[in-house]
Amino acid sequence: QAKLAGKGQVCEFQRGMDVAVRERHDLELELRAAISRHELMLYYQPLFGRDGKIIGFEALARWPHPHRGMIPPDRFIPLAEESGLIVPLGEWVMRTACSVAVNWPSDLSIAVNLSPTQFQRVDLVGTVRDILHETGLAPSRLELEVTENLLMEDVPRALALVKDLRALGVRVALDDFGTGYSSLAYLHDFPFDKVKVDRSFINKITNDANAWTIVESIIVMSHKLKLRVTAEGIETGAQLELLTDHDCDEMQGFLLGRPMPEEEASRLAEVVRQDCDVAD
Ligand code: C2E
Ligand code: MG
Ligand code: MG
Ligand code: MG
Repeated sequence: QAKLAGKGQVCEFQRGMDVAVRERHDLELELRAAISRHELMLYYQPLFGRDGKIIGFEALARWPHPHRGMIPPDRFIPLAEESGLIVPLGEWVMRTACSVAVNWPSDLSIAVNLSPTQFQRVDLVGTVRDILHETGLAPSRLELEVTENLLMEDVPRALALVKDLRALGVRVALDDFGTGYSSLAYLHDFPFDKVKVDRSFINKITNDANAWTIVESIIVMSHKLKLRVTAEGIETGAQLELLTDHDCDEMQGFLLGRPMPEEEASRLAEVVRQDCDVAD
C-alpha cells in the first residue's frame, strides 16, 4: 500500500516537473520570438538629487505578453540569462536606452543594468563603445549598474573590465548593496562611482534602528571612499526626509516616481529643460 502511494507521488512529482520544464521551455521560445519581433519595452524610473531635481533615469526592461500581461524582469531576465538570450536583449536595452537619453537635456544621465553573462563577454567594452558612438551619447551620461555576484566569479577579470569601462568615461555603480555578501572588499578593490543601497534596507530605516544604523554607516563610509550613494525603493516621506537629512546623494523610489514608458519619461525630462531655460 505504502509502496503504491509512494509510486503515485513520484509520478505526480514527475508530472509536475514536466509541466514546469515545458512551461519554461515555452516561455523561452516566446521570449526569443518577442525579442526578434522587438516586442520588449523599456520603462524609465527617475532618480533625484538631494535638492529634489531629476538627475536621470534608470532603464528597466518590461515584457508586455499578449496573454500573460506585463511580465516583470525578475521573471524573464533569469530565463534570458540561462538561454543566452541576454546577449541580444542586453544590447537592445543599452542601444535603446542610449538613443532615447541622447534627446534629453544633457545634464540627465541614463542607468543600465548589466547581468553576469553580459559581463563575462569579451567584447562588452567594445559593445559599449560602439553603442555610444552610434547613438552619440556622451559617455559621462551613461551609468552601468552591476551587482556583486557578477563581480565575484572572476575578480581580477571583473576589475579589469570595470577599469576599462571607466576609461571609456562611463560610470559604474554597485547595485543592490546590502544584499548578498556585500563584502566591503568590493568597495575597496573596485573603482565604483556609486553605491545603490538595496530597497530591502531602505524600507526598514524608519522602524528598525539597526537597519538605519547600517544605512547611515554605508552613507558615511561611502562618502569617505569618495563614492556617491543612491537609496533605492523610497516609498514614504519619512524615509526620504531621514535620507536627505543624512546626506544621501540620490533618491529613487515609488514615492518620487515609478518606472514609466518612454513618452512619459521624455516629457518629464523636457520639464527639466524648461526649468533650465527659466533659470538661464
Ligand atoms: P534593480 O536594478 O535593483 O531595479 C530596481 C527595481 O526596484 C525595479 O524593479 C523598480 O521598479 C523597483 N522599485 C523602484 N522603486 C521602488 C519602490 O519604491 N518600491 C518597490 N517595491 N519597488 C521599487 P523591476 O523593474 O521589476 O526590476 C527588477 C530587477 O530586474 C532590477 O532590479 C534589475 O536587477 C533587473 N532588470 C531590470 N531591467 C533589466 C535589464 O534591462 N537588464 C538586466 N540585466 N537586468 C534588468
Ligand atoms: Mg538597477
Ligand atoms: Mg537595485
Ligand atoms: Mg534591486
